[in-house]
Amino acid sequence: MRVIPALALGALVLPLSALAADPHSYAQPGQVRVTHLDLELAVDFPHKALEGQATLTLDWKNPKAPSLVLDTRDLKIAKVEGLDAAGRATALKFALAPRDKELGSKLTIQAPRHPAKVRIAYATVPAASGLQWLTPAQTADKKLPFMFSQSESIHARSWVPLQDSPAIRFTYSAHVTAPKDVRVVMSALNDARHPLDGDFRFDQPHPIPSYLLAIAAGDIAVKETGPRSAVYAEPSVAGKAAHEFEDTEKLIEATEKLYGPYAWGRYDILVLPPSFPYGGMENPNMTFATPTVLVGDKSLVSLVSHELAHSWSGNLVTAASWRDIWLNEGFTTYVQGRITEAVYGKVLADEEALLSARALQKSIGQMPANSQKLAPDPRGVGADDSLSDVAYDKGSWFLRTLEQRFGRETFDTWLKAYFHRHAFTSITTEQMLDDMKANLFDTHPGKMDWAQAKAWVYQSGIPADAPLPTSARFDAIDKERAAFLAGTLDASELDAKGWNTQEWMYFLDRLPDAPPLSKMRQLDAAWHLTGTPNAEIGMRWYSHAIAAGDKAVWEDAREHMTRIGRMYLTLPVYKAFAATPEGLAYAKAAYARAKDGYHPMTQGAIESILAKASSK
Ligand SMILES: [Zn+2]
Repeated sequence: MRVIPALALGALVLPLSALAADPHSYAQPGQVRVTHLDLELAVDFPHKALEGQATLTLDWKNPKAPSLVLDTRDLKIAKVEGLDAAGRATALKFALAPRDKELGSKLTIQAPRHPAKVRIAYATVPAASGLQWLTPAQTADKKLPFMFSQSESIHARSWVPLQDSPAIRFTYSAHVTAPKDVRVVMSALNDARHPLDGDFRFDQPHPIPSYLLAIAAGDIAVKETGPRSAVYAEPSVAGKAAHEFEDTEKLIEATEKLYGPYAWGRYDILVLPPSFPYGGMENPNMTFATPTVLVGDKSLVSLVSHELAHSWSGNLVTAASWRDIWLNEGFTTYVQGRITEAVYGKVLADEEALLSARALQKSIGQMPANSQKLAPDPRGVGADDSLSDVAYDKGSWFLRTLEQRFGRETFDTWLKAYFHRHAFTSITTEQMLDDMKANLFDTHPGKMDWAQAKAWVYQSGIPADAPLPTSARFDAIDKERAAFLAGTLDASELDAKGWNTQEWMYFLDRLPDAPPLSKMRQLDAAWHLTGTPNAEIGMRWYSHAIAAGDKAVWEDAREHMTRIGRMYLTLPVYKAFAATPEGLAYAKAAYARAKDGYHPMTQGAIESILAKASSK
């Protein structure tokens, strides 16, 4: 996933009794494991519900296990049956525990006879945390309704009853019905030529963790971008998306050259409406992506490199729990940089690495000590909160450090073999470290102390000797920014005509938190940043201009927040408004009008920012 949340999220404290292998799941994989999921679902737009049944194939581990325990959140369970090897059904007793705010409701199914399969008839609720339902008016083309899932981290349980832990992998098949003219896609092999007849079948033959279960349905067109890639998007967006992502095959080939064959067959990208709460989600075979990267010049295509990289780091070798998520995101951010370097050059890759490192340097000191660790004590961190800057930016910085110390060739050899050795498994930080010690440190002594590696993983902060890339263009921007702030360079004299998105991001990121209002006015007069269609620039511009007290940007900032539901691009603007009483009142009014267009996750995050500011 590409998140880059700039927010410090609330900590969750779990009781010690919940500390099984995965504290964010009620599943008991030591007793019984789900090995295959078969879904039979109807997409019901008027009722904003998925309704049907999930059949779980079971591998009973403990001969005395009395029950199957599943994760659910807000599911309406109608019936549970056990199926024997011949397919004969018997009703099973079940109990749904009271809802836990973080984990949902534990579903305990009495099954002392250990049926081969369990079939659960159920429906989702309109407010399911992992689904968003959009009216036609909330889509780009305004013709048909749209729905999509976002299961990571622990939201699959809000639309399928299952063992919702990344440690448990299963294959899946699905039969989904929908209104005519609607296309349904899933995180499986999709057929671009499938008629829009309301009847779709899917097969995911590789074992995946539950957070990679995904579904979307709506007015979706398809445009090929290569021999094994296509973009799926609303018809009016598909052409633009196909142009922005036309390098997809090049990116796949570059990654294969580094880390071995792409294991999944096709690599397609679904461009979602702007309310998608994240940048991208690496759903197997079908990356879900925000339209905010469609800026026309491919400057934000690193998002595709990121999601594609997950086909190795994350989807192939998976973090066994949310505490280990840096194994997905840190490794992926590192691989993303390598793909960018191979296809677009070292200058851009170094710029992106510097942006990530500088942002982390700025944010890490404000985090609790435990959250600054790559492998934190999970008792202090909620599942969604674990997807933080630390997992992405500190994790990738650690790997860049290893590459520098061991040399690129040695490090590449290890990383490629690591992906191969653990393919289609879920592993812990400690299992990764065992592999790294045995196959990198022990075989290449004298390059780096093992204690240093452990310090990266288990200690707070950033090691003092962490290497930084250099960027001549960023250095020049630092000088220009300083001269502009000192008053020796006029805004119109900035050499910004040729700046790419990253260079603007870097210029704006390192302005003072509350710059002088006169400076902001000069910048805007010279470069027309208010109203920018580039949301990466807009988020940074509006945050700084609001902090500077420039009320002239408020209306455009509100338009930006209303249009974009991607949390990373919208939450900082809400936070900037929330810093003053008048801004807070304005943000509350803006939220009240925009709320219905936001994803449940975005709603939750904004409400927490507004509540926190109100209580001050
Ligand atoms: Zn990611």
